Amino acid sequence: MKFNPCMKHKLIRDSVRHFAETELAPIAAEIDRNAVFPVDAIEKMKKLNYFGLQVPKEFGGADLDSISTAIVVEEISRVCAAVGLCVTVHNGVAVYPFLQFANQEQKEEYLPRLASGEIIGAFSLTEANAGSDAGSVETTAVKNGREYILNGTKIFVTNGGICDLSLIFALTNTDQKQLQSSVFIVESSFAGFLRGELEDLCGMRANPVSSLFLEDCRVPEKNLLGKLGMGMKIGMTTLDNGRIGVAAQALGIAQGAYEAAVKYAKERQQFKKPIASLQTIQNYIADMATEQAAARLLLYRACALKDEGAPFGCEAAMAKLYCSSVASRITSLAVQIHGGYGYSKEYDVERYFRDAKVTEIYEGTSEIQRMVIARAVLSQLIL
Ligand SMILES: Cc1cc2nc3c(=O)[nH]c(=O)nc-3n(C[C@H](O)[C@H](O)[C@H](O)COP(=O)(O)OP(=O)(O)OC[C@H]3O[C@@H](n4cnc5c(N)ncnc54)[C@H](O)[C@@H]3O)c2cc1C
Repeated sequence: MKFNPCMKHKLIRDSVRHFAETELAPIAAEIDRNAVFPVDAIEKMKKLNYFGLQVPKEFGGADLDSISTAIVVEEISRVCAAVGLCVTVHNGVAVYPFLQFANQEQKEEYLPRLASGEIIGAFSLTEANAGSDAGSVETTAVKNGREYILNGTKIFVTNGGICDLSLIFALTNTDQKQLQSSVFIVESSFAGFLRGELEDLCGMRANPVSSLFLEDCRVPEKNLLGKLGMGMKIGMTTLDNGRIGVAAQALGIAQGAYEAAVKYAKERQQFKKPIASLQTIQNYIADMATEQAAARLLLYRACALKDEGAPFGCEAAMAKLYCSSVASRITSLAVQIHGGYGYSKEYDVERYFRDAKVTEIYEGTSEIQRMVIARAVLSQLIL
């Protein structure tokens, strides 16, 4: 295993960092405060192929490896996590299932438009009674001629307020005794697709997270993704990949908070010397630097396994579990190092602190990641 980033990864990091610092840093605090989705910056990101990170070139994507993809998400999230969330959900859980499960016709119809950002994707699994328990979905899809009629409500849909397409998990009749979930490609222009109000969130406020309502929503049968009854398989496979994205996002937030804390510690004087000269603050900084480095190794290990074509679900869960808890700890320490100023919206660490928390919750809570990891260990998938 190589531990130094190669030139390609360094170039990608430099270029995304330049974009994020030029285009996102000046607006990040304001779009958070006003909960505004930054349309102009997103348009620029479409031109940079940030919406087709792992889409093959034949469909207009950038065809990046998984470490490069993680670096893009890290660098955007280092500056503006809400935009990082838009990018990682689009690429990681809306586009990825097309790469894994779509037929050729569906790939040709949707991948070029997803990769160019002409259409932005969402992933709608969660419902009021189906959170951690993804098998409890109640939305239904009933066959009617050459269409399915969908009814139900999805909640907490990232990109929900602006998405042009969402993958909807719904119960269908199969030849099994029980209803099983299936996945449908649902365009926002389909009759019966409605959006709820935007959520008023603690963090990630510039992402238009919303509910989606399916009211006799008519979906052509050709928009069934994969086979009937494959919902759980598609959901779990997709979430394995999505967790790499959330880990990258968490790591980016941690990096941003850590850099801000180090800079502040060098500048802030108390007792007639910089607080960085105090042993306690140095201990905090040492812990932050060490945990962040460990988190990055776990993340890139999951990416490397994925690119080798090896199973990576357990390693993705470890990366998500660890990176998100590191993000929460580092952002909390960053606020601590800023003292009272860290609790003010005048400083970015206050926003990082709020943004970090949800990385321990979405795409499977930390408790669920531990279940995934323990299951793999106990069944000796890993030792
Ligand atoms: C900002 C945001 C964006 C989101 N984006 C999306 C999205 O794009 N698409 C989507 O489908 N969903 C999305 N979600 C939903 C998210 O994935 C769920 O909130 C998450 O899976 C947890 O489900 P829940 O909120 O129902 O919590 P619950 O499942 O009710 O969990 C409550 C608590 O119980 C614990 N718990 C539950 N079951 C177990 C168990 N078996 N063992 C141990 N502990 C357990 C949980 O870990 C948690 O601590 C988003 C959520 C947020 C906040």
